Amino acid sequence: MSHFANFIAGEPVGANHTTANVNPSDTNDVIGDFSSGTKADVAEAIAAAKQAFPAWSRTTPQERHDILKRAADEVLARKEELGRILSREEGKTLAEGVGEAGRAGQVLSFFAGETLRLNGEMMGSVRPGVGIEVTREPVGVVGLITPWNFPIAIPAWKLAPALAYGNTVVIKPADLVPHSAWALVDILQRAGLPKGVLNLVMGKGSVVGAAMLAHPDIAAISFTGSVATGRLVAAACVASTPMKKVQLEMGGKNPLVVLDDADLKVAVDCAVNGAFFSTGQRCTASSRLIVTDTVHDAFVAALVERMKGLIVDDALKAGTHIGPVVDQKQLEQDEHYIRIARDEGARLIWGGERLNRQTPGFYLQPALFTETTNAMRISREEVFGPIANVIRVKTYDEALHVANDTDFGLSAGICTTSLKYASHFRRNVEAGMVMVNLPTAGVDYHVPFGGRKGSSYGPREQGAYAREFYTTVKTAYIAAG
Ligand code: NAD
Repeated sequence: MSHFANFIAGEPVGANHTTANVNPSDTNDVIGDFSSGTKADVAEAIAAAKQAFPAWSRTTPQERHDILKRAADEVLARKEELGRILSREEGKTLAEGVGEAGRAGQVLSFFAGETLRLNGEMMGSVRPGVGIEVTREPVGVVGLITPWNFPIAIPAWKLAPALAYGNTVVIKPADLVPHSAWALVDILQRAGLPKGVLNLVMGKGSVVGAAMLAHPDIAAISFTGSVATGRLVAAACVASTPMKKVQLEMGGKNPLVVLDDADLKVAVDCAVNGAFFSTGQRCTASSRLIVTDTVHDAFVAALVERMKGLIVDDALKAGTHIGPVVDQKQLEQDEHYIRIARDEGARLIWGGERLNRQTPGFYLQPALFTETTNAMRISREEVFGPIANVIRVKTYDEALHVANDTDFGLSAGICTTSLKYASHFRRNVEAGMVMVNLPTAGVDYHVPFGGRKGSSYGPREQGAYAREFYTTVKTAYIAAG
């Protein structure tokens, strides 16, 4: 079986312990053995990043541009292969995997350009004979902690700005999907990064992640994952000496509002894509479908018809619409919430049962609940599976109220042909991203990504906004002499 080592100070570093990476579409298929890092590995990686920082932070934008561009070109040229690696370990369909690998290449390419665009400001002082210069500097050694559901795009959208703005990095990918991050780090390294600028330590959050949070030489942590872990991360960053800058991207309970005047086909397309594609395992998934009275029954009937046609099967098989759930634990969590919803009186109108396929995998028929209220746990807690519930409302005002009545605020969508309601919703929904007649999931890479309330904490990711987190501002006062 292939062995994949951590990558520290420019060298592969094995570990005493390894973890088998298993294909969720076929649990007999073991992808490889991946190093499980220790506290000592983390300390070594941070020391390497610290040593590499002074020289890397003073490289020219051109040097950083060229490395990121070379990496982008390789990722894009190999997107089919990388997409296959991704789908094999995570379980999203091959088309989704290839799409995500392509996205990683685009992100790297975008930030290659951003190296050349970092600017500052010169201003007059309120005092005579003084000039002011506001510049941005890299933060230092940055720790990146990523989740399993976007195994290459999220590492890319953290790594690319971190490196573009002159930081050095220790990255810890989710232990369920180390192969994609390993491949990305390998590409960046071969693209010409000096030793120690980028270090990969794979393994458990409670060991590798915790060691990163506790280490004084990490200046900033960018985390994407669940709210529960996010809280721990933020608390640890504030408690450490010196305090760490922190950025958290977390869960969602994203509403898709469907109004009476919606184009029904558009609404059903948005719901199917947003709720069930990528097996519903997206922070931007539409898990609450808020539907007005008059269209409710027609919408539910059309949605169920579409769900009946969804092919749930091996992620790598041609024709599959929905791959397996990522692992046994997540499958049990999905089934747990299906039971909770039933016990609370929701009606399971379609799906929700385990499926057997040619190979042993974590297959679940996408599930739809009706007769739900926004007070039920199925409406309030992130399930992170192919499960959605329909909440019936009377009016647009009630729909907006329900959409906002949540602890989360990542993405929100509305399906309507009314300019009045679309405009009002865009202005008044409490979410970081709003979609009009589009699925709640599916975003561009050159604009800010993030949410409000329990979904995000700290500066936005992606696009030029990423500089807020990955740089620190210096204000210089200069006597004119
Ligand atoms: P998770 O919180 O379990 O793990 C995220 C990462 O944190 C992993 O790398 C994990 O190993 C690490 N970790 C776990 N315990 C840790 C600890 N004590 N200290 C430091 N690190 C620790 O999340 P997950 O299950 O991998 O991902 C699913 C979650 O991610 C969902 O809630 C989803 O909504 C969220 N997510 C959010 C976004 C976004 O941008 N808002 C994007 C994708 C996923």
